[in-house]
Amino acid sequence: MNQTYITNHLGEDRENYYGAVSPPIINSINFAFDSVNQMRDNMRDELNHSIYSSGCNPTVAILRKKIAALAGGEDALILNSGSTAMVTAILSNIEYGDHIICVDNPYFNTKKLLDGTIKKFGVTTSYIDGKDVANFEKAIKPNTKLIILESPTSITFEMQDIEAVVKLAKANNIITIMDNSYASPIFQKPLKLGVDITIHSATKYLAGHSDVIAGIIISSNKYIKKIFQNEFSTFGGAISANTAWLLLRSLRTFSLRMNHISQNTETVIAWLKNHPKVKQIYYPFDKNNLQYDLAKKQMTKASGLFSLKLKVENAREVERFVNALQTFHLAVSWGGHESLVFPLCVLAADKHEFCCKFSFDLIRFSIGLDEPDDLIEDLDRALSII
Ligand SMILES: *Cc1c(COP(=O)(O)O)cnc(C)c1O
Repeated sequence: MNQTYITNHLGEDRENYYGAVSPPIINSINFAFDSVNQMRDNMRDELNHSIYSSGCNPTVAILRKKIAALAGGEDALILNSGSTAMVTAILSNIEYGDHIICVDNPYFNTKKLLDGTIKKFGVTTSYIDGKDVANFEKAIKPNTKLIILESPTSITFEMQDIEAVVKLAKANNIITIMDNSYASPIFQKPLKLGVDITIHSATKYLAGHSDVIAGIIISSNKYIKKIFQNEFSTFGGAISANTAWLLLRSLRTFSLRMNHISQNTETVIAWLKNHPKVKQIYYPFDKNNLQYDLAKKQMTKASGLFSLKLKVENAREVERFVNALQTFHLAVSWGGHESLVFPLCVLAADKHEFCCKFSFDLIRFSIGLDEPDDLIEDLDRALSII
């Protein structure tokens, strides 16, 4: 099944809704039955039958089919944020006394979750440098239940050798969960490399227009059913039909946007690399990146996120540079149509826990759908004043 077939056609039963090419938003939370028998039959499989919309809503169900197929999984759950997807997937697979291995510098809410909420319930976490698979092996304990991957990570883009980690995990009966938000299912398919569960912040590339918060869990039928029947229901992680429809709309251009963003990013980075005021670039597909071969092995392309360090003496110079940018919005998040800049020094001044380990001169960019020439002109002007 190719990607355009999935995003344009799969899961849409148009004969059931007047041949509409854009699927209906079925806002009903309740679905009525003809008989007690029919109701009973449907309630035996709430994952696949519309009974109440915090379970299976028909508009959301179309989205589930498309997302699962795009990522190479059997089924998917759509949740109200990427963070909800992460907590739901993790909690569904741990018990009191278990141990988790997680890569260094995961998404900050993932770390907060492991160090706070989850720790309170007697589950401990070891953080490791995921660049070397031997570090996973060393960290395994008899009670290790989960390995949490994020490849690449979203500030400095460290990667893990997915195949090698999966092999180790399977040999030790450990479940793997991977945050694949950076590459999106368009550029990386960890389930095909054996990862058990992938999660995405759909808020980022999948939605792509900076107007939707949503998350996804994709996996085999076995894991999806388990998660659906337990934490998905008890936490109430579902999204509305309206939100699902926006995501379906976004999916139509998903591959197009990703490829365009990737190409724009290559152009901007090629220019930045030669600039005398740029000290270092953090980007998975940079040929000088020590993990360049790994990036090429497991991702088809890089997305629009990268970071850099400038040749500056202090954070004030970083601030002057960032304040001078005009086409780039100064903002958090990423993955939308707009191009963004996020200097880590924003948080360093207040000793924000998330930022302490990053140096003051680190600046993250998210390239959107702007013309690369406009972005380069903006960077050129801002660099000239420092
Ligand atoms: C933003 C983000 C999340 C969380 O997603 P939300 O939809 O904002 O809750 C998870 N992982 C990564 C890598 C992210 O960048």
